[in-house]
Amino acid sequence: MKQATKLIHAGEGVDTGKTPSLTTPIYETSTFVFDSVADVERYQAGKLDGYLYSRYENPTVVAVEQKVAAVDGAEQSLLFSSGMAAIATAFITLLKAGDEVICCSAIYGGTFHILEDLMSKFGIAHRFVSIEEMSDPLKVIGPATKLVWFESPINPTLRCIDIRTVAAACKKAGVLSGIDNTFASPINQPVLAMGIDLSMQSATKYLNGHSDVTGGVLSGSKAVIAPLAKMRRLLGGIMDPQPAFALGRGMKTMPLRVAQHNANAMAVAQFLDGHAGIERVYYPGLPSHPDHAIAKGQMSGFGGMVTIDVKGGREGAFRAFDRLKVIKRAASLGGVESICSLPILTSQYGLTDEELVKAGVSKGMIRISIGLEDASDLIADLEQALA
Ligand SMILES: *Cc1c(COP(=O)(O)O)cnc(C)c1O
Repeated sequence: MKQATKLIHAGEGVDTGKTPSLTTPIYETSTFVFDSVADVERYQAGKLDGYLYSRYENPTVVAVEQKVAAVDGAEQSLLFSSGMAAIATAFITLLKAGDEVICCSAIYGGTFHILEDLMSKFGIAHRFVSIEEMSDPLKVIGPATKLVWFESPINPTLRCIDIRTVAAACKKAGVLSGIDNTFASPINQPVLAMGIDLSMQSATKYLNGHSDVTGGVLSGSKAVIAPLAKMRRLLGGIMDPQPAFALGRGMKTMPLRVAQHNANAMAVAQFLDGHAGIERVYYPGLPSHPDHAIAKGQMSGFGGMVTIDVKGGREGAFRAFDRLKVIKRAASLGGVESICSLPILTSQYGLTDEELVKAGVSKGMIRISIGLEDASDLIADLEQALA
């Protein structure tokens, strides 16, 4: 063999023998090797336990999917390259021309645009309903409804919807229920156990928790997931092995991280509640939150997101925002670093005054993703910023 051939093939097939690696290896390969035509035939017939091509399946990705299924309490989970890839794949798979999606009007911007700009091109209708209407879905589900889609808690007001009520109504009406569980995470809110058919999360947020991976997941029963897995092969939205490895590592500490996010956010929310520089605090764990009772009934912890209305409206919020030192100014959420954003410049950017009122969003609002720093340092930072 000459040098180029040797260089390419040396080291092939090294494995760890009887001492397997403790952690999941990164199978950084696009394809897999078969010994013979007989093996290819057996694979295609589903009789050979193996892999063909990483757009279909990859061992690192499968290993992490099993972690996601464990945390979601799901029969099966799928990993995607982003939360949006997961949502798009779900909608494209589950809906056809003539079908209708009922979606809560207070919804992630990307989801809104998938329905409004993309699904509509294929004759898939959608109806946005208020939080109140979503709380009684049997009144809004129609003959063409195939899917009910919602979030709880909702960005940025952290309003909550009774998940068991939505799930039961959908079962009764024979339509599929889907929830974007990104904000709460399944640690705080096990939505499948509450009767929801399909759970989606942006793995970019609490699931990975370290702000260094973009990803998404879908979880549910084998029957719900099977067609989604098939469509993922075609649409190609599967996560790569490298970010899957990082996600799997991040997930090992998820219960610890989420417990600390909950505790830190509660401490910060309690400090801010009644603070002289604040009009209002939005945290589902506070008795003052309009949906505290619903949250208490379905969340074991109230999450790491805290939103505030700063006194002095837009100017007051902008001033406090610029004065923060420990809490960084950045979009996204769910990482170990505390970050904050202004809804009128991010999730609700470009909305008219009337639309802002409808979304419950004020111009003096700051949304904070409470990280894992010492709560006292976060409180001190907010104290000096609001002084
Ligand atoms: C971030 C987010 C998404 C989209 O996820 P990406 O990973 O950014 O594609 C969807 N829903 C919610 C609630 C989110 O916060």
